[in-house]
Amino acid sequence: MATMRVVQVSHPNGPFEIVERQVPEPGAGSVRIRVQACGICHSDSLTKEGAYPGIQYPRIPGHEVAGVIDAVGPGTAGWQPGQRVGVGWNGGYCGHCDHCRRGDFFACVTGQVTGITYDGGYAEYLIAPASAVARMPAELPPVEAAPLMCAGLTTFNALRNSGAGPGDVVAVLGLGGLGHLGVQYAAKMGFHTVGIARGNDKEALARQLGASVYIDSQARDPAAELLKLGGAKVILATATSGEAMSAVQAGLAVNGTLLVIGAAASMQVSPLLLLAGRRSIKGWYSGTSIDVQDTLAFSARTGVRPMNETFPLTRASDAYDRMMSGKARFRVVLTIGR
Ligand SMILES: [Zn+2]
Ligand SMILES: [Zn+2]
Repeated sequence: MATMRVVQVSHPNGPFEIVERQVPEPGAGSVRIRVQACGICHSDSLTKEGAYPGIQYPRIPGHEVAGVIDAVGPGTAGWQPGQRVGVGWNGGYCGHCDHCRRGDFFACVTGQVTGITYDGGYAEYLIAPASAVARMPAELPPVEAAPLMCAGLTTFNALRNSGAGPGDVVAVLGLGGLGHLGVQYAAKMGFHTVGIARGNDKEALARQLGASVYIDSQARDPAAELLKLGGAKVILATATSGEAMSAVQAGLAVNGTLLVIGAAASMQVSPLLLLAGRRSIKGWYSGTSIDVQDTLAFSARTGVRPMNETFPLTRASDAYDRMMSGKARFRVVLTIGR
């Protein structure tokens, strides 16, 4: 029986363990993917720390998976061995619950989460339901594609559903793992793109990524600066600071939206600001496999790429610590295969 190397967590807050397991066989409706790269996302801490309700151990984390299908389970339509594919946070949906029947597949009542409700991509092989699988274009190397499965997807899908049109002022708050992709997507989508971060040392980066305006939120009031541009149609809040989100909301244009994708614990909201200008504050779920596929295709065509630090699978623990330090520029990716 063939074996594979995986990195698992055996209990909440337990260490990453490198172990050998049997290579699993795909069941009905599933595929087996030979993993080439897997990004490390802050949400992997839910698996590491046991913060996801009902999570069972041992569990292999990882929901930014890039690889190649190498086996297809019985009755699995539409996929063949040899196809380059990716799997993101959404680990599949049933297709027949009420939410699915309304087209809200992301809200499936039995929806799965890759690397949390089943084993993820810190491994040489992964089994995924067909509904979780996205095609990966040939011109995207696995290491560059992996962070697009979650960080890229979340920013791309939020922006394309934000209601902003070409030429509208769209600000991206935060220039980290999410924000450095958000600025690129906003610029490629034709928005008047504004980068907002702390300190003037980020200005060159913001402009290199495609921002035409940069606002140093330490030196200037970001809301006042946005109003000088006519106000923002959309502010994509990628930072995890509720204070930073509160500080920009007054920079929204009439009918503008603060689109929240950074998981801050709380923020202050001005009801008067919302009702007087019909402004809104809204969250956005990353997306499902077809959204991943669109993200990958758009990125391949337009040249949007993550900036990565790479580690081999055997150094998953160091890689995870690097991600958690907040110092990585900007995504951490495991390279897999022996
Ligand atoms: Zn993620
Ligand atoms: Zn469903």
